[in-house]
Amino acid sequence: MIRSVSLSLLTTTILGWFHNPAPAANIPGAGFTVASYSLALTPDIQNKTVLGRESITLRANVDGVRRLNFSANALIIDRATLDGVALAHTVEGDALGFDLLRPLRRGRTVRLELHYHGRPARGFVGSSTTLYTSYFACDWMFCSEDKFGEKAAFSLDLRVPAGVSSLSVGSLIARRSGPDGSEIHSWKAPRPYSVYLYGFAMGRFTHASEWAGSKKLTYISDTTDSAELKRRFAGTREMVAFLSLKAGMPLPVSEYRQLLVDGGEAQEAATYSVLGTESLPTKPNDSSEDWAIVHELTHQWWGNLITCETLKDFWLNEGITTFMTAAWKEHRYGRVAYDAELDVAKSRLKRAQVKGFDKPLAWNGIYPTLGVRRAIQYSKGALFMAQLRVTLGDTAFWSGLRRYTRDHAGGTVTSIDLERAMEASSGQDLQQLFAEWVFGDEISD
Ligand SMILES: [Zn+2]
Repeated sequence: MIRSVSLSLLTTTILGWFHNPAPAANIPGAGFTVASYSLALTPDIQNKTVLGRESITLRANVDGVRRLNFSANALIIDRATLDGVALAHTVEGDALGFDLLRPLRRGRTVRLELHYHGRPARGFVGSSTTLYTSYFACDWMFCSEDKFGEKAAFSLDLRVPAGVSSLSVGSLIARRSGPDGSEIHSWKAPRPYSVYLYGFAMGRFTHASEWAGSKKLTYISDTTDSAELKRRFAGTREMVAFLSLKAGMPLPVSEYRQLLVDGGEAQEAATYSVLGTESLPTKPNDSSEDWAIVHELTHQWWGNLITCETLKDFWLNEGITTFMTAAWKEHRYGRVAYDAELDVAKSRLKRAQVKGFDKPLAWNGIYPTLGVRRAIQYSKGALFMAQLRVTLGDTAFWSGLRRYTRDHAGGTVTSIDLERAMEASSGQDLQQLFAEWVFGDEISD
């Protein structure tokens, strides 16, 4: 199914992380916290290569940090310095590490600067005239892909050929002339985001914009005209209004962009999404096909703004988002469409259960296949939210979701945060229900 294509991309990424743990002594990201990534990239659209400069400001969070490890990738480092002093690097297992001349004390902030080039093994997609990133940020820059909930500031100076426009996280804050008739587009994120949400795109794009209250919605494509873009994304305004109401807070970005590409893509980035033509409805007002735009938009609140601390609680990103897709369908098409969406989730969970696989939502083990991982974290997660709604009643349930969203906006969460918000809004003790669905044998408080 089309839907499986898009969801499996992220799941593939995550399973990859689980199956390839770094050696204990060389865990990417261990011992320090990144405050900011500042990049200057010159991508080659046709060859899908990149020339890059990256400045990482990081702080030691333990005493005696002797090596700074990041996820190894296929890029070639030409030069590395720490506060201006040259550093050597080596790869051990899945970790690319920089050995420090003197260990760092806890609390010390340093700046690591890397000059690099190469062809990312994953994550650069497009045509001969367009390039966009598809997951795998740590393949085209240097970061630690399994530090899922670590949020850092992000800025990008993207060098593009004349006449080529760009898209990245946040706002385009400056454009200036670059070498050889190129242009340099400076993008800056409005708040810290997890690295898995970093991305960019460049091409000869058509743009179309409209407003949802004070929020600007921009639709972008290199193959479609602006009238067609507006038609394709016509539901977005009403979705923004609906989700803002349910979240208890407005869309957390001033401008939300959607990039339309070929294929089955459905990918959220920090402040924009990439949607493939095959993920969008072929005919208007068909509730069964209306999921990709609302799913990725929903991540602007649940996933991007409020992020699971680790992948153990990934269901908080995807289960809530899958449930909100059903809730949108109820709002837009009626109760039958809500029930139909939950029926899809039920049948996916059932398929895993028939194979003998069922786990609590916050299970921390390795899933045997992509399908069962989705069955738990997307489908069972959505069904649990629907069950909470029945147990608490609409007033307390939606009030609890608003409380959870507002209390953790900009931060990270674990499952207990949702339990506490729902208990506070309803006055009910939900320990038993959460034990049954979410924690299994663990004690929830
Ligand atoms: Zn998702």
